Amino acid sequence: MAYEGKNIETIALHAGWRNDETTGSVAVPIHQTTSYQFNDTAHAASLFGLQEFGNIYTRIMNPTCDVLEQRMAALDGAAAGLAVSSGQTASAYSIQNVARAGDNIVSSSHLYGGTYNQFKNNLKEMGIEVRFVDPTDPANFEKATDDKTRAYFAETLPNPKLQVFPIGEVAEIGRKHDIPLIVDNTAAPVLCRPFDHGAAVTTYSTTKYIGGHGTTIGGLILDGGNFDWGKAGADRQPALNTPDPCYGGVVWDEQVTKNMGLPFAYLLKLRTTLLRDLGGAMSPFNAWMFIQGLETLPLRMREHAKNAKQVAEFLASNKKVQSVTYPGLFEGAEKEKADKYMTGGYGALIGFELPGGKEAGSKFIDSLELLYHVANIGDSRSLAIHPATTTHSQLAPEEQLSAGVTPGYVRLSIGIENAEDIIADISQAIDKASK
Ligand code: PLP
Repeated sequence: MAYEGKNIETIALHAGWRNDETTGSVAVPIHQTTSYQFNDTAHAASLFGLQEFGNIYTRIMNPTCDVLEQRMAALDGAAAGLAVSSGQTASAYSIQNVARAGDNIVSSSHLYGGTYNQFKNNLKEMGIEVRFVDPTDPANFEKATDDKTRAYFAETLPNPKLQVFPIGEVAEIGRKHDIPLIVDNTAAPVLCRPFDHGAAVTTYSTTKYIGGHGTTIGGLILDGGNFDWGKAGADRQPALNTPDPCYGGVVWDEQVTKNMGLPFAYLLKLRTTLLRDLGGAMSPFNAWMFIQGLETLPLRMREHAKNAKQVAEFLASNKKVQSVTYPGLFEGAEKEKADKYMTGGYGALIGFELPGGKEAGSKFIDSLELLYHVANIGDSRSLAIHPATTTHSQLAPEEQLSAGVTPGYVRLSIGIENAEDIIADISQAIDKASK
């Protein structure tokens, strides 16, 4: 492969695709098809029996999605990837793949609100208990673990607190108990490499930085290929080590890891059962959009991080600002974690607080001229939101506080415009909000 051993900027442009064999097309074609002609009945039987891999039906696999999957897997050092319909689908499937009714997972309480709702309510209704723990102390994961714990879950850079998750420390606890750590790396693609620190699975909302242009909803799940499901055994990880009625009684670890010699039993199970049966597939057109985004991802992430650093420094030096939350400005243990895990930069998210509370926060948002007021992150454009009146408004005041949302707190997602222009807009809005 032309990209093997190359750097991330090269991988983002080359992994998973060279050119079309018949037309020579360099751009990845959009394979807008539902189904694929089998060579003969023996070929079809062999595909369905997992004796060979090939295209069957676009709900389960598609050549355009395949390029996105291969490219992201190469970029993150994963064994395999799977594109799904949204970041929410990625989170749900990543857990449903190992946990069944009666099981539990332990999750960091520092989560995106949508994920929190999914875990607290929807997974609970499916019989999967999610035990939320404060991730500031990794030992909390061990304390909440019991015989029915199937996975740990966390976000690399959770907003609004922006405290970087101790991936290595929690992954190590998990491996001691044969429990995989699943990391939602949505806010830090390229900047943080969770597999290098022992995570077993990563998820992404590709809607954010990977797409990068605020056009498309999608998600990805990557299998690090570094977790020993067989060693975990049938008691700890029954989903991978006992006959699966969803696929003719196959025992996934035995079939994929041992018989086929492939390091992605977790992902193959997910594709051929959950994705096939629940159907949260990514459309080929959306995959193509994400491939366009991926090509410039490393460049954009550098620019996001560079601009955010300048904005954070401006806010920290502005006398009208009460406090600034940004991993690069933390001190002590939080800064050490940020430096250890965010090796490519501290990301594009910043929180700050004006002394005038809720009223000042709203006034700031309403005074912005360049920054957009939207419930999103990871767009190339700079974005702002006032969580107390929007994303976190359904939480009780004490729940808002424990999530790090104070009344005047404003969250910024810094884009790739010229930093001078971003700062000028923020500065004039702070002046208006401080009157
Ligand atoms: N994970 C994180 C960290 C997010 O910020 C989001 C969306 O904001 C999601 C998951 C869900 O992604 P999607 O909107 O693509 O379903």
